[in-house]
Amino acid sequence: MKKQADPYMHSAEHILNQAMGRRFGCDRCFSAHIERKKSKCDYRFGRPLTDEELKSLENEVNGVIEADLQVSARYIATDNARERFNLSRVPDDAGDHIRIVSIGDYDHCPCIGPHVPSTGTIGRFRITSSDCENGVLRIRFKLKRPPTCGAEG
Ligand SMILES: [Zn+2]
Repeated sequence: MKKQADPYMHSAEHILNQAMGRRFGCDRCFSAHIERKKSKCDYRFGRPLTDEELKSLENEVNGVIEADLQVSARYIATDNARERFNLSRVPDDAGDHIRIVSIGDYDHCPCIGPHVPSTGTIGRFRITSSDCENGVLRIRFKLKRPPTCGAEG
């Protein structure tokens, strides 16, 4: 059974994907490795991003986090979803209805994963490194969480 993704990191992935689309016209990542301490997303993109581009991407993601947008989920008919969303990462046996996760009005994406209730809890987003090989742009990132009373593992 697949390990549950970290909701903070995974929600940041949604925002990063939307930011990549808005800034660079790039499709959402085709592969992601989400872990609590560090994560990475792979995009089909033909060149590396410059330091300035990475910085502006980071700023956009942090802007969405600071806006503290509400994250919500609703179910819509899979046939309708097919017209509006890329379902290539949704399994064929997903059923008649599909869960769409919305981050305010910023991002809407079919997803069954765990998310934060609002983006303000995600923490500060930082791109640690990025490179591009064979048309695959990889972005690695971390989150700096606000201090909480919970145990840090
Ligand atoms: Zn998700």
